Amino acid sequence: MSGLNLAQQEAVNYLHGPCLVLAGAGSGKTRVITHKIARLIQAGLAAKRIAAITFTNKAASEMRERAKGLIGREAKDVVICTFHALGVRLLRQDGASLGLKPQFSILDSDDVVSILKDAGGTTDAATARQWQWAISLWKNMGLNAAQAEAQAKDDNERVTARIMARYEERLAAFHSVDFDDLIGLPLKLLRDHEDVRAKWQQAMGHVLVDEYQDTNATQYELLKLMVGERGRFTAVGDDDQSIYGWRGATLDNLRKLPVDYPQLKVIKLEQNYRSTSAILRAANNVIQPNPKLFPKTLFSELGEGEPVRVVDCDNEEHEAERAVARFQSIRAAGAGKDWKDFAVLYRANHQARVFEQALRKAQIPYKVSGGQSFFDRAEIRDLCAWLRLWVNNDDDPAFLRAVTTPKRGIGHQTLASLGTFASQYKLSLFESLFSSSLGSVLNARAVGSLHEFGRYVNDLEYRARHTEGAEAARAFITDWLKDIGYEKHLYDSEDSEKLAASRWTNVLEFCDWMAKRCGGEIDDASGANIASEKKTLLEVAQTISLLSTISEREQDQNVVTLSTLHASKGLEWPHVVLAGCNEGLLPFKLDDDNGKAGQANEGILQKLQEERRLMYVGITRAQRSLAVSWVKRRKKGREVVAGVPSRFIAEMALDKATVKEDPREKLRALRAEFAARKAQADGAAAAGV
Ligand code: ATP
Ligand code: MG
Repeated sequence: MSGLNLAQQEAVNYLHGPCLVLAGAGSGKTRVITHKIARLIQAGLAAKRIAAITFTNKAASEMRERAKGLIGREAKDVVICTFHALGVRLLRQDGASLGLKPQFSILDSDDVVSILKDAGGTTDAATARQWQWAISLWKNMGLNAAQAEAQAKDDNERVTARIMARYEERLAAFHSVDFDDLIGLPLKLLRDHEDVRAKWQQAMGHVLVDEYQDTNATQYELLKLMVGERGRFTAVGDDDQSIYGWRGATLDNLRKLPVDYPQLKVIKLEQNYRSTSAILRAANNVIQPNPKLFPKTLFSELGEGEPVRVVDCDNEEHEAERAVARFQSIRAAGAGKDWKDFAVLYRANHQARVFEQALRKAQIPYKVSGGQSFFDRAEIRDLCAWLRLWVNNDDDPAFLRAVTTPKRGIGHQTLASLGTFASQYKLSLFESLFSSSLGSVLNARAVGSLHEFGRYVNDLEYRARHTEGAEAARAFITDWLKDIGYEKHLYDSEDSEKLAASRWTNVLEFCDWMAKRCGGEIDDASGANIASEKKTLLEVAQTISLLSTISEREQDQNVVTLSTLHASKGLEWPHVVLAGCNEGLLPFKLDDDNGKAGQANEGILQKLQEERRLMYVGITRAQRSLAVSWVKRRKKGREVVAGVPSRFIAEMALDKATVKEDPREKLRALRAEFAARKAQADGAAAAGV
C-alpha cells in the first residue's frame, strides 16, 4: 500500500464488487490498476484469473513491467492486453461455437479496403474507405448489415448497408475477421452461448479497465457479459479525457454504470501527482466550459512552477526551431537531463515532419510515436501475408499477396481464372488449387505452378508448427526468405538501393523479433501467449496481425518524443511543447456538412467539446514545463493563410499567473478577444441558439 493515498487505497482494497474510479488527469488511476493487480493476487486470486485491459499494446507492456516490479514472476500469468487482444483470446478458444476456425485470420485495413472494392464493384479506394468507416461505426454500435439497412437515413446509407452484407459474406468465406469483429464476435459468442458465457465468467475473477471513458458500446456489453451479475471489475477513467468519440467511444458507458450496477462503488481521486499548479490551472481553465458528468476537483502539491509559455512563430519551420531551442535551453539550465524528458505534441501526423527536420539539424535523437506503424510497412505486410497463409489457408487476401510476392511466374490471368473457379465452387483460392477439375479452366503448366506453390505453403506450415525456440526459428526464417528470394525482390523492385537496403533492414529486424518471441524472450502484449515460454513459429504467427508496434522497450530509449495528442494519452513528460495551437487545427475546423463555420448547432458544439478534451489531454501530459505554440502563417493545402491563435490559448490565460508571453500587450489583446467572443457566445446562448 505504500505510494498510494487514502482514496487510492480504498479503490485497491475494494475487491468483491464493481468499482469505478473517476478522476482527473494524473491523479494515479493507472497506478490504482497496477497496485490492485498485486492486491488481488495477495488476496488469493490466481494470477491467470485477473485481466487488465489497456487502451494500447504499448500501455499493456508498460503495465506488465510495472506489475512485474510489484509482484515478480507471477505477473506473467495476469492477462494484460487490449480489448481487441482479449477478443482474440475468446475467439481462438471458443469461436468454433460461431462456426469460426481457431486459425481464423485478422484482416488489416488494406485487406478490408480491397474486399470492399470488390464487394461494392469500385476501383476507387477513397469510396471504399468511406464504406469501411461507415461499416466500422455500425459494427461498433452493435448493428449488423440488416439492422444497418433498416435504420439507414438515406439512399447512400442503404447502399452501404447492402455492401456491408456482401462484405460480411466474404469475410466468412475467407475465415477472416476485421478489427471490429474482435469485439463484436466475442460479444455475440457470450450473448448467445450460455455455456461459453458461464465458462468465461468463471475464469475471470476480476477485470480491470483503464481509460474506461474511451470504451464504446460493444466493449461495454462485452465487459458486462464477462463479469456477469457479480460485477467484479474495476474501471478507471476521466470523462474529460474522452477523445475517441469519432471512433464510436461513448460517455454513455460512464452514465450507464451506476444504473446497471446499483451496488457500484464510486471513488474519486483529487490529488494530481503529475503537474505543477500552473499547468493544472491552465488545463482546468480549458476544460471548465464543458458540461460536467460528475463534479471533480484536482489539486497539486508540486508547487506553482513556471507559467505556461505562449510562443508565437512566423511559420511551421520557425515553430520547430523554437521548440528545439527551448529544449536546448532547458537542458543547458540543468532542468532536464535526458532527451526522454521532452516531448512535442500535435494534432495530426503530418505535423511531425518539420520537427523531425529541426531535431535532425540539431543532432538530437527522437522517435515518432503514433505515426506509421512498423506493421504498416509494405515489406512487413508482405511477410505477414505468408504467415497468415500458414495459419489460415483460406485467407484469400493473404493468398493473393503471397503468391505474387515475390513473383513466381503465376500471372494475373491465371489468378483471375482461379478466382472465378473458386467462387463458382464456393472454395477458397487455396482449396481450389488441389481440386481435380482445375484442369478444365487452366492449362497444365499453370496448374503445375499452382500445385507447386500449394505444396510449398503446406510444407512451410508443417515446419512452422514444429519449429520452436529462438534459434530454430531464426534458421527457419533465414531459409525461407532465401528460398523465396525476398532480398533480391526488394532490390529489384526498388529504384533506390538505399531504400531497398533500409527495407531489408526492417525485414531482418522483424525476423529477429519473431525469433525472440519464439524463444519467449519478449513479452507478448497480444494476450494470446505470455512471455518466457518457448513458442512455435506458428503460434507466434497467429498473434502477428494483432500487433501494431514492435514492443521494444521504447520507454527506455533516451530520445525526444514526437507524438499525436491522441497517442499521448496516459503518458507524461517533464517538458512538453504543444504545437500548432491555431484556430482550424486545435480546435479543428468546426464547420460540418449541415452548418457553416462558426454557426452554432448541436454537432458543432459536440465537436468543440471533444476538441477541448483533446487540448486538456495535451496540457496534462506536462509535468514541469509547458509551452504552447501557434503560427502566424499557416499552410493550408497549397495556400498560405493567416494564422489565428487557438481560442484555448486565451482561455488558459484567464488568470494572469498561469500564462506568460512576451510582449505583454499581445496577451492583453488575446484576453480582450476572448472576452468579446465569450460575450458573443453568452448572448447567443441567451437568445437560445
Ligand atoms: P491519466 O489520466 O493521464 O491517465 P492517471 O490518473 O492514470 O493519469 P497515473 O499515470 O497513474 O495517473 O499517475 C500520474 C503520475 O503520478 C505517475 O507518475 C504516478 O507514478 C504518480 N503517482 C500516482 N499516484 C501517486 C501517489 N499516491 N504518490 C506519488 N506518486 C503518485
Ligand atoms: Mg492513466
